[in-house]
Amino acid sequence: MLNALKEKFWVVAETHGINRVFSGLTAEHGWLVLCGHGVCDGPLAMNTPDDRYIQVSTFRAEMEYLLALGYTFVTLTEGIRRMREGESLDNLVTMTFDDGMHSVVEFAYPVMVALGVKGCMYVVPGIVGTSRPLWTDMIIAVCWHRQGGFALDFPQGRISYAGELNGNPGKTSLAVIQTFRKLPEEVRRKSFEQIERMYEDIPEGFVPREYMPVTWDELRSLDPGILEVGNHTLSHPKLVNVDHATMQAEISGARRMIADELGTPVDHFCYPGGSYDREVVECVRSAGHASATTGVFGRNTRETPALELRRVVISPTLARFQSRMSGFERLVRTAMKPGRLFWTFLIVLGLQAEILAACAA
Ligand SMILES: [Zn+2]
Repeated sequence: MLNALKEKFWVVAETHGINRVFSGLTAEHGWLVLCGHGVCDGPLAMNTPDDRYIQVSTFRAEMEYLLALGYTFVTLTEGIRRMREGESLDNLVTMTFDDGMHSVVEFAYPVMVALGVKGCMYVVPGIVGTSRPLWTDMIIAVCWHRQGGFALDFPQGRISYAGELNGNPGKTSLAVIQTFRKLPEEVRRKSFEQIERMYEDIPEGFVPREYMPVTWDELRSLDPGILEVGNHTLSHPKLVNVDHATMQAEISGARRMIADELGTPVDHFCYPGGSYDREVVECVRSAGHASATTGVFGRNTRETPALELRRVVISPTLARFQSRMSGFERLVRTAMKPGRLFWTFLIVLGLQAEILAACAA
């Protein structure tokens, strides 16, 4: 109910010109680098509250919206070239996809070709071409499969996810992923064997095809003038948690593996889980990458470091994406932080505006 009301609110923000007013007020400049993950062509049974997979129809509508606003799509290579040569970055946009899901090639790529949308997909070469999803997606699958609950043993003790699952496996899976992300890499790998064993018990066909990684042949079939292939490490660890030798293997080793398979240089990198520090940035630079994207919200100017590019996440609904682009969503998010009162107020206000408009029509 609350979600439906929120959605209605974003629709009203667009239909009543609130987004237009905000776009004029905030007038954000700079290169917009968008971030997405998987794409699906129907409701996905095992989605998560962070909307990892969005419908291809929504993806198309959001790209069309940007084109209608006058944005020009460029590849990362072209954006970085313009940045280096001091050219204007205003109204430039690049679409990026993290984690290298097969669904990007199957559903998003044809839309990109048709509309002239350009971007980069960051792959995890350790799983490319296998039938093993990314470790975070394995956790999501296990949570959906074991809805009766389960327990995991960590060095700090046993955690039971029995009660929490309570009909909301998507939400629980995010909690489990967070627990694993906080562990030192060695401990994470060891503890993860429990998830792997539970994953083995999942019958074939239970995990949606959208969760599967892209294949090398699919990557070779892409036009790099439309969709470039970037590096997202060998196994998607939290890079600030690994020792230097592992960091180098994860970053340089992955870059070499992709370059060998595709026969092209790999210039672009994305920090898994948005985790990086000075040491990680230097490792990415010395491996030979020209750009790297983070999870930091915002646009990029000529002053933004090329190895710390900011991004804006695409949205599961067009209305919400429109409010995100105008800057209105950010204002609402900031204002609602202390509690839900502000939300209630805005929803009432938004609905009133619509009722008044309907009466006037
Ligand atoms: Zn990732």
